[in-house]
Amino acid sequence: MTIVPGLPYAASGLDRGGSRRGDERWISGLLAGQATVIIPMWRDSCLIDGGGQLRWCAPDAADLLAACGQPAFLGVRAEGAVFAADLSELDEPAALSVAGATATADMRALFAGLSAPDAAALAYAKGLLRWHREQRFCGACGSATQASHGGHQRSCEGCGRLLFPRIEPAVIALVTAPPEPGRADRCLLARHRGAKPGAFATLAGFVEIGESLEDAVRREVTEETGVRVGEVSYQGSQPWPFPSGIMAGFRARALTESIDVDGEELEEARWFTRDQARAANAGQRHDSIEHYLIEGWLTE
Ligand SMILES: [Zn+2]
Repeated sequence: MTIVPGLPYAASGLDRGGSRRGDERWISGLLAGQATVIIPMWRDSCLIDGGGQLRWCAPDAADLLAACGQPAFLGVRAEGAVFAADLSELDEPAALSVAGATATADMRALFAGLSAPDAAALAYAKGLLRWHREQRFCGACGSATQASHGGHQRSCEGCGRLLFPRIEPAVIALVTAPPEPGRADRCLLARHRGAKPGAFATLAGFVEIGESLEDAVRREVTEETGVRVGEVSYQGSQPWPFPSGIMAGFRARALTESIDVDGEELEEARWFTRDQARAANAGQRHDSIEHYLIEGWLTE
């Protein structure tokens, strides 16, 4: 069983040109194309104009190109090629000026006003540009690295090691209570440390080295809540480049009910009936797979 297609940030509609982006002439030709757009970003933020609209730049934006160096190639869609330009080396006023923007904005805060392909392209741009900023030196020998392949590889000038954009997998799970005759179905939601009162969420955590996704679900749920989990079934995945994740979503069946929160990551955890979970989910941000995991269970 898979849940909803087209999760937020998943469908950029971009052909990433994986087999061609190593060709510098092809990339330069696209970058000069009339219909090409360049997404400017500054230190993880989008740039917006006075009307609150996203600022996209044309390929003849000489000041922008002079400031950012070679933009990263995201892909080609029906309207033309899309690149992303990192202005993080500049201070904020200078970044706004070269991009013709008036303010910076958090992209998740803009989500409700974005088309699905634009939201996905922005998330992709944000994750890729962040990776470049954080991989300027080789982790093996410490020498500088240089971008290539349209911004999808870096190579070390010292030892020649190739670096590829790094993705950190995380699991997120809706845990259901052991069925009990005569009792309503329930799911396990938790409030994370520092979250506002009433902000209950599904459980999530990073996958560790040498661990399957399913075992990561079982471990995280037990570590954080003391609940033991049996059957785990995959529901779908969502890019989560904030800064470098991918979320693998699961439904998990609890074997035990007793809750013992770890007190480190979680403040509290509780079993919710459908009505209670519906009320808790209503006030949350709806751009994450979490919302769909909960909604999928609510509509059963
Ligand atoms: Zn090296």
